[in-house]
Amino acid sequence: MLSTRRLYEEAPTLARCTARVAACRPDPKDPRYWLCALDATVFYPEGGGQPCDLGTLDGVPVLAVHQDGENIIWHRTAAPLEAGRQVEAAIDWDRRFDLMQQHTGEHILSGTLHRMFGAENVGFHIGSPWVRMDIDLPLTPDQLAQAERAANRTVQRDGPIRCWYPAPQELAQLHYRSKKELDGPVRLVDAAGADLCACCGTHVATAGQVGVIQILSAQHYKGGVRLAVACGMRAVAEMQVLRADAQAAGARLSVPAGQLTGAAERLLAAQSAQKQRAAALQSALADALAAAAQPGRAQVVFLDGPDGDGLRRIAMAVAAKTGALCAAFAPGGQGLAYALAAAKDGDVRELCRRMNAQFSGRGGGKAGFCQGSLPADADRQAVERFLQNG
Ligand SMILES: [Zn+2]
Repeated sequence: MLSTRRLYEEAPTLARCTARVAACRPDPKDPRYWLCALDATVFYPEGGGQPCDLGTLDGVPVLAVHQDGENIIWHRTAAPLEAGRQVEAAIDWDRRFDLMQQHTGEHILSGTLHRMFGAENVGFHIGSPWVRMDIDLPLTPDQLAQAERAANRTVQRDGPIRCWYPAPQELAQLHYRSKKELDGPVRLVDAAGADLCACCGTHVATAGQVGVIQILSAQHYKGGVRLAVACGMRAVAEMQVLRADAQAAGARLSVPAGQLTGAAERLLAAQSAQKQRAAALQSALADALAAAAQPGRAQVVFLDGPDGDGLRRIAMAVAAKTGALCAAFAPGGQGLAYALAAAKDGDVRELCRRMNAQFSGRGGGKAGFCQGSLPADADRQAVERFLQNG
C-alpha cells in the first residue's frame, strides 16, 4: 500500500475531502473499533505535541488518528468501511483551527524566548485546557512578560507562516530549532520570522490568526520553567473567566478589579488583629472562670464562643485553681468541641476514652490534658452527669 497523501500539509485550511478507502481492518488493540486507511486525508495524526483531528468518514465517527512507520495514516472508526469505497472525510474544523492557533502561537513564543534569552523549548504539548511549554532556563516573571509582549507584536505584524521541505543544500545552510535528530525529509516552519523550526504540525496562514498569546502561569521545572499558555479564543475565554472572578471578588471587597491585592492585604491584617483580640479575651475568660471556681470541685462548663485554644486555656486554668477535673465545651467545627484537664497529677485519658465511647465522640491526648469533640446534638445534661460521676 502506498503512503497516505497528507492533504493537511498541502492545504491546512481544507476541512473535508473525498478519498478512497485503501484498507480497513479490526483494531488489534480494541476489537470494538476499526482502523481505516485512505489514499489521501485531511485528518492530522497525533504527533509533535499536537493532538489528532476528530471528525467523520461518510458520517462514521473518527475517534483517533495515528501514522505508522510506513507513513500510512490510520483512522480509528466506530464501524468498518470497505476497501475501494469513496468516502467523504470531514474534520471538526473548530477543533482544528484552535489547535493551529495554539501550535502557531507556541512557535512564535518559543522562537521569541530563544532569540531574547537563548532559551530552548524542551517539551511541548497542546493539552486541555492549556498548552504546556517546558523551557530550559529559569526565566523571571519580568523576562516572561517581555517575551509575551514581543510575541504579541509579532502576532500584530501579521507576517506569513511558511512551511516547506527544503532541499538538502538549503537545509544545511539554515539554523533551525529541532527537538530531536530527524531522519527522512525535514519539514521546516518559518513562523513570521519569529521562529524557524522543524515541525510536522498544522499552522494558521498568518501570525495575526493566532489572535493573542498569553502566558497564564510559570512554575519551576527541572531547572527551568513550565509554562501554561493560551492562544486565540482560549486566551479570550480565560480572560473572561478571570475578569468575572476579579469583578465578583471586587464587589465583595468594595474595590474595583485591579485593587484586589491591597484589599486582600487589609483583610488579612484585620483578621490577624481579630485573632489577637480573641486570644486576649479567651485568656481573660479563663482567668475569670478560674478565679470564680471553688477549689476541690470538678467543673463542667458549656460556653459559646471559645475556639479549641480557648477551651484549652479555660480547662487548664480552672483545673490549676481547683486541683480537680475541668471539662470545657463549646460548639466548634462540626460538633461540640471539648477540652479535659486532669485533677492535680491525674490522668484523663481513660475518662476521655469512655466519654467518646458513650457519646460517639472522638479525640484524646496526654495524661494531664485531652481534646476532641462530641456530636453537636450530644445530651449536655447526660454528659455533665457522666463527668461529675467519673
Ligand atoms: Zn509547528
